[in-house]
Amino acid sequence: MDKVTIPNFHLYNGNEIPALGFGTWLGLDERLEFKVWDAPKLIDAMMYAIDIGYRHFDTAHLYRMEPEVGFVINKKIREGVVQRDDIFVTTKVWQHNHRTDDAYASVKASLGRLGLDYIDLVLIHWPISIDTSGMDERIDYLETYRGLENALKNGLVKSIGVSNFNLRQLERLLAHCEIKPAVNQIQVTINLLEKELVSFCKSQDIQVVSYSSFGSLTRSYAIDAPPPKSDDPCLDELARKYNKTVTQLVLRFLYQRGIVTIPKSLTPNRILENASIFDFDIESSDVAILEKFDCGYRSDVPIFWQKYANYPFEKQETEFLGDVPESLLVWKNGANLDVD
Ligand code: NDP
Repeated sequence: MDKVTIPNFHLYNGNEIPALGFGTWLGLDERLEFKVWDAPKLIDAMMYAIDIGYRHFDTAHLYRMEPEVGFVINKKIREGVVQRDDIFVTTKVWQHNHRTDDAYASVKASLGRLGLDYIDLVLIHWPISIDTSGMDERIDYLETYRGLENALKNGLVKSIGVSNFNLRQLERLLAHCEIKPAVNQIQVTINLLEKELVSFCKSQDIQVVSYSSFGSLTRSYAIDAPPPKSDDPCLDELARKYNKTVTQLVLRFLYQRGIVTIPKSLTPNRILENASIFDFDIESSDVAILEKFDCGYRSDVPIFWQKYANYPFEKQETEFLGDVPESLLVWKNGANLDVD
């Protein structure tokens, strides 16, 4: 069987995080319903990923997949393929649980669903707080973060951090927190380099983790997105030069910027391909070519949250914000392996 060796980055608190992980968000279909039918495929994909050498898994309460993620990890531990401390698991506290005690309870519930004794990293998923009816709760994320600090102090988690925080929100958090966040998970892609936010995180020793790193490269629905697409001649030529694919080039480019990536794939050859990026170097002249694609384009804009307090992105001028999809407000935990 093919194997991959994935290096670690160091977190400021002494813990290590594998530089590439496996994303477990199965996404929403065209009716904005969660793609629950892919759960069995996710289990198979994760088993394969562990077998070939992945050690880092990114999940969240929202993804409904914590039971499945925990099931696979525990199975591989029982089989002797890995030990618990070989694995790095991230989960996230959803917008419904932003009061300090609720955030703490959410971490405990995630532990139960994962079937683990501790979680490696817990993040505030978004700085926005919305209840299950879609009401803006306007809870300060500092309050939420205190719940994560308590979870860390009580040994439930090894590291804590945030996701989708902009620079101003991060500065405010740093000014008021007791335990500095170890990670900010944000979207960074070839045309959304987030240079200012990434260098701020670096200056504060906060590790950036990039989600949806392929942006519109692999997504069919983003057909009207600005270049590049996966068949871009310039990217294609560069990828050929290194005997790699365009997606590998993108993941390597982000790695060389010191950014962790967590690509999601249910396809075995892609799972292998995505982690086979640690055997080449993109020359600085080629890095400069890749950097030119940066145009601040965000492939996933949750515009329906724009009206809520603490929305982290630049606001768009439009009256048509739409309602928050029901599937982001209410769900049953787990899909196949439900353990509420
Ligand atoms: P990705 O950028 O990882 O893209 C996933 C898509 O790309 C899938 O359709 C997959 O198809 C396809 N794909 C994967 N590898 C390849 C490849 N080598 N060649 C061609 N196509 C490929 O998007 P995600 O949005 O899933 O982001 C990754 C992870 O980030 C999520 O799973 C989740 O864990 C996290 N995330 C966090 C967010 C946050 O708010 N903090 C927001 C969004 C995501 P297939 O599966 O069919 O192979």
